[in-house]
Amino acid sequence: MARKTNGYAIRAAQSEKRHLDARDNAVPCTYCGMPADSIDHIPPRAYREFIRAQGLEARYPFIEVMSCRECNSALGARALWTVPVRKRRIAAYLKRKYAKYLRIPDWTPAEAEEMGGGMLGSYIREGLIVRDVTRDRIKRAEGKT
Ligand SMILES: [Zn+2]
Repeated sequence: MARKTNGYAIRAAQSEKRHLDARDNAVPCTYCGMPADSIDHIPPRAYREFIRAQGLEARYPFIEVMSCRECNSALGARALWTVPVRKRRIAAYLKRKYAKYLRIPDWTPAEAEEMGGGMLGSYIREGLIVRDVTRDRIKRAEGKT
């Protein structure tokens, strides 16, 4: 179950090396910095007619930004009408979704290596990568990078 729900980050972590070249060329997600592969409409299209009818377009300009699929589907059609508000939601979402990875202590790669080549060792090494990728994504979403 956990593996399934965290599939995106695990896949991203496992192919991080392969991704590095692609990531250099890819447009980063507006929210988390992962390679973007979708367009996010702000405010969501479902609200645009209402916003237009209320004359609120100057306050909530209609824009499209690039985002990764995970952020895009996490945001869905939620009534979050600006980029900063959407970034805050993503930071909270990532902290909740990847909480168990974020709790992994700050072992060095050498210490993780000492845990051996068995299931525990590889689980921890994989977890460290997911944790570090998630930390970077949260920093980006919180505007610290
Ligand atoms: Zn993203």
